[in-house]
Amino acid sequence: MEMESRDPRLCGAMPDRGAALRKVQDGIARACARVSRDVRAVSLVAASKTVSADMIAPLIELGQVVYGENRVQEAKSKWPALKERFPEVELHLLGPLQSNKAREAVSLCEVIQSLDRRSLAEALARECQRQARAPKLFIQVNTGLESQKAGVAPGDADAFVAECRNVWGLNVQGLMCIPPVGDRPEKHFLLLAELARRNGLGCLSMGMSADFMLAIEHGATHVRVGSAIFGSRPKLEVAT
Ligand SMILES: *Cc1c(COP(=O)(O)O)cnc(C)c1O
Repeated sequence: MEMESRDPRLCGAMPDRGAALRKVQDGIARACARVSRDVRAVSLVAASKTVSADMIAPLIELGQVVYGENRVQEAKSKWPALKERFPEVELHLLGPLQSNKAREAVSLCEVIQSLDRRSLAEALARECQRQARAPKLFIQVNTGLESQKAGVAPGDADAFVAECRNVWGLNVQGLMCIPPVGDRPEKHFLLLAELARRNGLGCLSMGMSADFMLAIEHGATHVRVGSAIFGSRPKLEVAT
């Protein structure tokens, strides 16, 4: 495991996260070129769970301003100070959200990607109204129907999108999925793209370090990339 230091720019032995970031940006550009998409239509969400604020700040200074966190608690401990320093930052919540954390999530995040059930839709609607804020919301779809994974079943997605819009008045902009580990991701990307298309949703959050180029070729507008930028994480951090 790599040694962490306080400032990667001051230590020659540190992996060069700036170079890793450029490599990912280059991959995004190449994938866009392959399918004639405008590179500006793809947003790189740097998945920064477990990464300290000290390591994130230099990347913001390099122009990477969109980040994703998995836990409200961790987001709360890192991002208010970073956002004060860098007001241009856009923070996404990628991990499962408990309804009793909706208040903090709405105040901290510009985008919440893990809307997946009625009780959360209700809690978010209440908080959006109370705080007069309307973060963009993505509905998470459990495309692999995995019991341990969050997300609405693909068969319930159309009805849930309609409910979020019409009953709860939520600012639903897109869909998100995390394909099963070990499965070929294409069919999940195709399914998510079709669900978004038929519900008139413009944002598609799909693709991670291992498959973000493929996801872009299937229409991803948001790719969530962690380890390809920051290096590998402790094993216990499993995406759900
Ligand atoms: C950690 C995480 C990612 C990034 O995964 P990598 O394989 O490290 O790129 C993307 N999405 C979610 C929901 C995550 O939890």
